[in-house]
Amino acid sequence: MIARGPIGNLSTGGYAAAVTRVAIIGAGFGGIAVAHQLRQAGYRDLTIFERAPEVGGVWRDNLYPGCACDIPAPLYSYSFAPNPEWTRRFPPRAEILDYLRACVRDFGLTAHLRLGTEVVEAAWTGSAWRVVTAAGAEEFDVLIPAMGQLSRPVIPVLPGAAEFGGIAMHTAQWDASVDLTGRRVAVLGTGASAIQLVPAIAGQAAHVTVLQRTPPWTLPKPDRRYGRLRRALHRRVPVVLRAARAGTWLLTVVTGKAVTGSRLAQVVVGTISRTQRAIQGRGLAGVRPDYALGCKRVLFTGDWYRTLRRPDVSLVTSDVDRLTPAGVRTADGVEHPVDVLVYGTGFAATEFLAPVRVHGRTGPLDAEWRDGAYAHLGIAVPGFPNLFLMYGPNTNTGNTSVVYFHESQARYIVQAVRHVDAHGPVEVRREVAEAFDAEIQRRLARSVWTACSSWYRTATGRVVTNWPGMAGEYRARTKVFRPADYAPAGQFQGTSAPNGLGSRSQ
Ligand SMILES: Cc1cc2nc3c(=O)[nH]c(=O)nc-3n(C[C@H](O)[C@H](O)[C@H](O)COP(=O)(O)OP(=O)(O)OC[C@H]3O[C@@H](n4cnc5c(N)ncnc54)[C@H](O)[C@@H]3O)c2cc1C
Repeated sequence: MIARGPIGNLSTGGYAAAVTRVAIIGAGFGGIAVAHQLRQAGYRDLTIFERAPEVGGVWRDNLYPGCACDIPAPLYSYSFAPNPEWTRRFPPRAEILDYLRACVRDFGLTAHLRLGTEVVEAAWTGSAWRVVTAAGAEEFDVLIPAMGQLSRPVIPVLPGAAEFGGIAMHTAQWDASVDLTGRRVAVLGTGASAIQLVPAIAGQAAHVTVLQRTPPWTLPKPDRRYGRLRRALHRRVPVVLRAARAGTWLLTVVTGKAVTGSRLAQVVVGTISRTQRAIQGRGLAGVRPDYALGCKRVLFTGDWYRTLRRPDVSLVTSDVDRLTPAGVRTADGVEHPVDVLVYGTGFAATEFLAPVRVHGRTGPLDAEWRDGAYAHLGIAVPGFPNLFLMYGPNTNTGNTSVVYFHESQARYIVQAVRHVDAHGPVEVRREVAEAFDAEIQRRLARSVWTACSSWYRTATGRVVTNWPGMAGEYRARTKVFRPADYAPAGQFQGTSAPNGLGSRSQ
């Protein structure tokens, strides 16, 4: 059972909100956070559209063996719902999914859910959002997409894919009925999912071939079991769990400083990473990254190098040339026999809100975002009144908990909805959003994320996923909804579509 903590400044304080109809798209960590905080603020006309038959987001979808969080759960959970029952510091995905299910139940959100209902289109009518699903169209005053950045798997188009005679699946579309016992498995990619999967299946599969394009920077994963006594302590003395959360926070500040430019933190984190590789990866060829630390996601692991040393695991660093009926051929001409090919190839992270067709006051969102997604504070887009994003552009973090960002957004959005309730539809001022974007892109241009290609960037190189600073800065900047940053949407009615993104930086 989840402990319920205070949730800051969001109590209703006698304020009764009844009229505003709110649609939330997505029931992952983000959608659940904002729905809960809106309910706490007195909003009851909430509809949460979720395309899957159940809640949970990535923790529902990523069924691959070994899937677990890589930020300690005391921080990778809601501050207002600490969970004394975690069985590990880095619990497996099933436990995180159970936590989210319990949150939905305990927060009273079940009745608000519309499961198995995919939103395909949303259009601003001039006074409301018309949301279209297979069941028809409905109108809402406020639209909150909480669709995640990592919810659409990417599978590369490889020559010969149609000829491949084995089973192929993405880590996020895992077919649990496929028994890997005694099979030859190839894993394409060495990102965050692959680094969890490979150690989990080595030994069960007859052989695992790891097809690596770039070796990851790694850090030791200080995982540990929370035994019965520790859990009892978490239950009875909540300050212990709060201290674990604070301790994790401090550690993520160091890793955050390392990726956002502090030379000292880079030296400290780089030294830890190199030492881990020198000790655990001794004698292994092809595991040394040749790009800057933090440019791609730094991965936490305790068993990656040990697994690569196993006789039944091979690390292949030659590029994949094509698939063949019997397996995978690499550029060095070697054919690797494969029964099961696993794509650990990540997600379409830069394509926010796709494939939903979103049409605002000024036109389609695709047009507004033709140079890459952007939003004021990652939340509000000019031309799109009463639309507030969770985990929107430039709000991802590679070093701390995304849930911390979700909470910041949810608090801000509650204030925005209250403002809408009192004053009618609002839209972020274009000059405010563009100035914010210019600042963020200026900072990102100097960041480590422009030093290599990664899922953080669009094809043109613009970093659209990541927040350039520390999480604390994001919390501070989203603490207060500033009405001056917005204008009544009615003020724009009848004006023509803006020509532009001229002042936006690349
Ligand atoms: C394997 C994995 C491990 C991760 N580990 C960590 C970690 O340790 N720490 C960390 O901070 N982050 C981690 N992340 C990042 C993760 O994306 C976030 O932490 C967080 O879970 C995102 O929550 P969300 O609700 O914003 O998005 P999601 O969890 O992606 O949820 C989005 C929801 O929207 C639904 N949806 C999408 N489109 C529609 C539509 N058109 N209509 C209706 N419903 C729709 C989806 O079905 C989904 O349920 C991990 C991601 C993955 C994939």
